[in-house]
Amino acid sequence: MPTLHDRVLAARTRIDDAARTAGRDPSEVRLLLATKTQDAGTVLEAVLAATEIAADRGDDGAVLIGENRVQELVAKAPDLADLVAAGRLEVHMIGNLQRNKINQMLPTVTVLASIDRLPLAEAVAQRCTRAGRVLDVMVQVNVSAESSKSGAAPSDATALATAVAALDGLHLTGFMTVGANTSDEAEVRAGFARLREVRDEVLASGAPGTRDARELSMGMSTDLELAVAEGATTVRVGTAVFGERPAA
Ligand SMILES: *Cc1c(COP(=O)(O)O)cnc(C)c1O
Repeated sequence: MPTLHDRVLAARTRIDDAARTAGRDPSEVRLLLATKTQDAGTVLEAVLAATEIAADRGDDGAVLIGENRVQELVAKAPDLADLVAAGRLEVHMIGNLQRNKINQMLPTVTVLASIDRLPLAEAVAQRCTRAGRVLDVMVQVNVSAESSKSGAAPSDATALATAVAALDGLHLTGFMTVGANTSDEAEVRAGFARLREVRDEVLASGAPGTRDARELSMGMSTDLELAVAEGATTVRVGTAVFGERPAA
């Protein structure tokens, strides 16, 4: 049986190979561990493995994890707080966020990567401003237009991102998407390319607050190679590291 360390290393190696194939520098692409349903002990073990693997590569940046539900995030937060405070760990919120969970979420996240509507962004911004904090956020885009997925429509994404970037209390760092759920690689790739186009459009706009909106958080266990080929700067891996999750 491969250990957690073996599986994190294998995911990292897939990213490196995909980057080289695409003519990119592997260090441009970060691995985020998608830790939903994993208990705090498993998350910590994976974070330590990822830290070791990064150190072996001469990468002294933070390790990234992503959680989907505020309740889970808050439950694991005490075990992760020291690493976050030391700048060793970034916690990304990658799931759909309800307004009534904003206050619970805020103390535990580094990046809110699932902004998909302006009223939500305004509510988060207001609380951040009140707390004297600036929160890194990404705009989530539904590039496949599948009704089961969250995210702004690609046609609305530029306007949303520009509006979000202008809000005090928020710092727009980029864009996030979940790829199309299909075995048609061309379709999956086209969706990732669409996110990159949105990003490039927003950067080119020169609108206030958009200058740092470079990140493309896209690609998961089954499609990370396609995402890296289309410019992903962060790929989010769950199953390939932790195994299949129990059905929800
Ligand atoms: C679960 C999840 C992932 C990881 O997906 P895997 O297929 O398990 O690698 C990535 N991003 C989001 C938003 C997720 O919910």
